[in-house]
Amino acid sequence: MHFKELNLIEPILAALKTKGYEVPTPIQAAAIPPILLGRDVLGCAQTGTGKTAAFALPVLQNITQKQGTKQGAIRVLVLSPTRELAVQIGESFAAYSKGLKVRGTTVFGGVSDMPQKQKLRQGVDILVATPGRLMDLHAQRALSLDKVEILVLDEADRMMDMGFIHDVRKIAALIPAQRQTLFFSATMPPEIRSLAKSLLRDPVNVEVAPVSAAANNIEQAVYMVSRNSKPSLLRHLLSDTSIRRALVFTRTKHGADRVCKTLERYRIFAEALHGNKTQGARQRALSNFKSGQTRILVATDIASRGIDVTDISHVFNFDLPEVPETYVHRIGRTARAGASGIAYAFCDSEERSYLRGIERLIRQQLKIVPLPVLEETLAPIPQSEPGTMRPRSAAPSHRPASSGPGRREPVRAYGHGGGHGGGGSRPRSEGAARPQRTYSNAAGGSSRPRFESDSNSDSQRPQSRDGETVGSQGQGSQHGRKPFWQKSRPTAGKRYS
Ligand code: AMP
Repeated sequence: MHFKELNLIEPILAALKTKGYEVPTPIQAAAIPPILLGRDVLGCAQTGTGKTAAFALPVLQNITQKQGTKQGAIRVLVLSPTRELAVQIGESFAAYSKGLKVRGTTVFGGVSDMPQKQKLRQGVDILVATPGRLMDLHAQRALSLDKVEILVLDEADRMMDMGFIHDVRKIAALIPAQRQTLFFSATMPPEIRSLAKSLLRDPVNVEVAPVSAAANNIEQAVYMVSRNSKPSLLRHLLSDTSIRRALVFTRTKHGADRVCKTLERYRIFAEALHGNKTQGARQRALSNFKSGQTRILVATDIASRGIDVTDISHVFNFDLPEVPETYVHRIGRTARAGASGIAYAFCDSEERSYLRGIERLIRQQLKIVPLPVLEETLAPIPQSEPGTMRPRSAAPSHRPASSGPGRREPVRAYGHGGGHGGGGSRPRSEGAARPQRTYSNAAGGSSRPRFESDSNSDSQRPQSRDGETVGSQGQGSQHGRKPFWQKSRPTAGKRYS
C-alpha cells in the first residue's frame, strides 16, 4: 500500500516524501481512513509504531479541508503525558505540515510560560500540551479551548500512571462535546477503557501489535522453574484435560520440536508450528488446531503471528521471550473476542532479566505460582534419549493452579519510577527546564524545530539461541531486522525519568 491510496492531499504526500516514508505502517493504514472520515478512534498502539503520523496526518488534512470557525483559535488539542513526547509530537506536526497553512505550538511545564503565552496570543491552530501546563495556562486565561474541533489523547495509560487522569477529564469538559476524539494507549487497563468510553463516541477500534498485556480477562502467572524441569512441568499442566486449547511458545524451532516429542512420550499429542516446516505442514497444523483436532500447538513466534484462533484457553510461555513486547503479543492469542484466558510463563534462572523486562513493560508483577510437588513421574525428562521413558497414563494428582495461583515472595518489585518518587499527582517530566519549541508555517518569525531523525531505525532484532529470529510480528523481520514500528518502547528510565 502507498500513502496515495489513503487519499491524503498533495502537500502531505510531499512532506512524507521529504521524510522518506514510502509505505504506511499498519497503524497508519488502519487509523488514517476513519480519522479522515471524521470518526472517533480508539487506538491501541505503542510509540514506535508510527502512531504519531497515524493521527497527525489525517488531523492536518481535516483541519486544512474544513474552515475553522474563528481565525487564530485552537482547533486541535493534543495531550501528551510527558514533555518529551509533546516535543516529539510537535516536531512531527511541524514536519508533516510543511506545505500547509497551519500554525502550531507546544506547551509544557518546567520552563517559563512567557514565550508560550506570546505564541498563543499570535494564534495557533494546533496545540500540543502536557495537561499540567495546559491547565495553568487555561487558569490564567492565556488560552481558550472552546473552539477545539479535534482532541487527541496520546499515551493515555501513561497519563494515568502520572496522575493526570483528573486533569484530562477536566480538560475534556472544557472542549465542545461536538468534536472528534482520537484516543491512543499502549495498554488498555479497565480505568483507561472507562476513560475512553466516557470521551469517545462510537469509536473505530484500531490495534496494532497485540491487545494489551493488561487486558483484564487474561489471568497471568509465572512458574519459577529450572530449565530441566520445564518439560515435566508442561506435561504436568497439560495433563489437565480442562485445558481446551493451548498454545505453547518456545524460543526456537528445535525447542518446539523437542517439546512436541517430550509430550508425545506421555501420550499428549501436540503439533509444532515453526519456520522450518513447509507451508503445507504449517497450514495443516494450524487447521488441526483451529478445528480442535489438535489440542496443543507448540509454536515459535515467527510462525505464530498469523494465528487467530478465537478460543485458545491457555498460552504457555515455555521460554520467555527476550523482547518484552513479544510476551504481550503471545498472551494476546488467548482471551480473544472478549473471552477469558490464562497465560503461564515458565522462567528459569537465566530468564529472570526477561521477566523483569516483561513486568516493566506491562507494569504488573506476575503472580508466582508455587511449583507443584514434583513426584517421581514429574522428574526431569531426559531430552537426549527419546523413547527411554515409559509413558504413564495416570494423570497427575495435581491440578494446575489456574484459578488463583498461590503467591510466593515476589521476585522483585518493579514499581514505576520506584525509588524516584514517581506516582505523584504532578508530572514528573515537567520539572526540568527545557527550551520551548514552536512551529509555524503561516505566521512568520517563529522558529521551526529541528526534526530529529530516527537514529535507531537500524536496530537489530534479537536472535534466538539457534539463530531463529524471535518476536517477529510483521513484515520486514525475516532477516533478524525488526521493522521500526515494532521496536521496543523506550524503557521508563530512558524516556520518562
Ligand atoms: P512514532 O510511533 O510515531 O513515534 O514513530 C516512530 C518512528 O517512525 C518515527 O521516527 C517516525 O518518524 C517514523 N515513521 C512514522 N511513520 C513512518 C513511515 N510510514 N515510514 C517510515 N518511517 C515512519
